[in-house]
Amino acid sequence: MIQNLLSDNPLLDFSGLPKFDQVQASHVTPAIDKLLGDGRVLLQKLGTDSHPPTWDNFASRLEDLEEHISRAWSQVSHMNAVVNSPELREAYNANLPKLTAFYADLSQDERLYAKFRELRASKTYASLNAAQRKIVENELRDFRLGGAELPQDKKARFKAIQEELSTLSAKFEENLLDTTNAYALFIDHADQLKGIPPDALEAAQQAAKQDAKSGWKFTLHFPSYMPLLQYADNRGLRETLYRAYATRASEFGQPQWDNTPLIASILKLRREAAQLLGYANYAEVSLATKMAQAPAQVTDFLQTLAVRAKPFAQRDMQELQAYAADQLGLKELQAWDIAYVSEKLREEKYAFSDQEVKQYFPEQQVLHGLFKVTETIFGVHVRPSQAPVWHKDVNFYEIIGRDGNLVGQFYLDLYARNNKRGGAWMDEAITRRKTLQTLATPVAFLTCNFSAPMGDKPAQFTHDEVITMFHEFGHGLHHLLTKVDEYGVSGIKGVEWDAVELPSQFMENFCWEWEVLRHMTRHAETGAHLPRALFDKMVAAKNFQAGMQTMRQIEFSLFDMRLHGEFDPYGRQTALDLIEQVRDEVAVVRPPKWNRFPNNFSHIFAGGYAAGYYSYKWAEVLSADAYSLFEENGVLSEETGHRFWSEILAQGGSRPALESFVAFRGREPTIDALLRHNGMTA
Ligand SMILES: [Zn+2]
Repeated sequence: MIQNLLSDNPLLDFSGLPKFDQVQASHVTPAIDKLLGDGRVLLQKLGTDSHPPTWDNFASRLEDLEEHISRAWSQVSHMNAVVNSPELREAYNANLPKLTAFYADLSQDERLYAKFRELRASKTYASLNAAQRKIVENELRDFRLGGAELPQDKKARFKAIQEELSTLSAKFEENLLDTTNAYALFIDHADQLKGIPPDALEAAQQAAKQDAKSGWKFTLHFPSYMPLLQYADNRGLRETLYRAYATRASEFGQPQWDNTPLIASILKLRREAAQLLGYANYAEVSLATKMAQAPAQVTDFLQTLAVRAKPFAQRDMQELQAYAADQLGLKELQAWDIAYVSEKLREEKYAFSDQEVKQYFPEQQVLHGLFKVTETIFGVHVRPSQAPVWHKDVNFYEIIGRDGNLVGQFYLDLYARNNKRGGAWMDEAITRRKTLQTLATPVAFLTCNFSAPMGDKPAQFTHDEVITMFHEFGHGLHHLLTKVDEYGVSGIKGVEWDAVELPSQFMENFCWEWEVLRHMTRHAETGAHLPRALFDKMVAAKNFQAGMQTMRQIEFSLFDMRLHGEFDPYGRQTALDLIEQVRDEVAVVRPPKWNRFPNNFSHIFAGGYAAGYYSYKWAEVLSADAYSLFEENGVLSEETGHRFWSEILAQGGSRPALESFVAFRGREPTIDALLRHNGMTA
């Protein structure tokens, strides 16, 4: 039986495209056990091999192993995400911990670390190609950051810190969730709820009913909280809910859910771990794997952006204050008025509905537009193709190069349905790799959750959905147009975290380009292109309060960077003091003194964004600045497209992102294009 499952196991067949018509949940465990079992044997063999390590006898073997495991597992995790079933979920959950444990062991394996060092120091190292050398360097860096170089006693302490940090981060998130869940506001009289849209009211009524109560229930969960803040005419009600939201997991609530002591402990432990590794602070550790080189470079970047954006943020704020005073009789604008007044102002300035715009974006027209842009700037051909798929609504395409050769292939799974995870993403099915014997061309999964067609009417997308599709397709191109032969730095692999959104956000720009949009739109009934007046309104709405939003992102980013950099976690200043100080410098909208934002900033205390929150703005700068070369040379310039391909997309993680950027743009990135795209020019 076992034997059978192995020899016929489609997950262990690496000869071509995944066999989605054959893969069953019952294949998962035997395949993963076989791969990990063979993997452990290989690691043992490589670790104890007495021959000096070379690329071929050592590093390349590890690449084989990783490639096979991820090719098999990507099919499993993909199906688990898009055609979930109880059997598949069980198989997925049963095997995920095995993989986690396997990779944890691998990253701690001192014999492998020693082999990589030996390879790095050997004569053969100089004969490796650039991508191979980059892989070796990355491995050494990751072992080092994992504590592999520490003496035994310090290694134990380092490990204990990591474990404690993961417990504290989990607790931080739990506290936030518990305070959020524990709060409810019940309203009995409809006259208190004026202004709130019917769908939000209905949801609130349902929520009350579920608690066996009459009236309406509001909570601190975003879909309940936000409509009330945006629309409730009742100012006192907005204040009540805002206060509850802004003081979550703080000393103003239940003491067991207060995140204040956790923040202090997390910061101390991160500093200690950083110093064990020989860094001054955690910000330096975080940047060791990123494009930004030093904390001061990031804070300079943020401050420069702040200087340029602040006048526009002040102008936004003045406009808001004037509107609130003149039109709504609100003399003193409070924190709980901002969303409400902004929404009123936005409606007045840019009255158009998503529904109106959606009429112009039928699926085929949008896809045609997306492929047309791709074909024009990169000189490739995108055409439908055939492959086994996991659902009838999935389409498969191939990208053919100018020379007629296959460049890559991708699956497009556009519609929301039951048993499919929400959101939109790109994932790797097969990564480009060239060995002496074989060439694997890359294959991508592109997944969205748009509304399916109704009856015989084609699907129509909102403009936001069109942007999402271009964004994910940009990630796809990064993966598919790579020319790197070595697995570990091919496509998006090994690309710095703060640079990985460059191609995706770059592609979004075309959705704001009149020439592109005009041809990408066709009204469902009249067949007309998008009217210019509607387009202008869409652009203006996109930049509504861009100044204020930029300053808010800068405030969070500066706080995060300083907190993990120059801030002394053992000193007398608290995180709260620090954010007040940052606000003194950059805030245009000043929250009340009792606002406890740090206590719910889970991006940096529970997510992976510590000393990395700046990445949002950083990547926007890169993508806007890259796009500006197209604006200079013609947005559909094939020559510029070719350069973008060869200097950025083709290179993947084989060299630092800054080098790729400079090679493409001819200089280091500047913030001007982003400011201009956001309407922030004098
Ligand atoms: Zn993205």
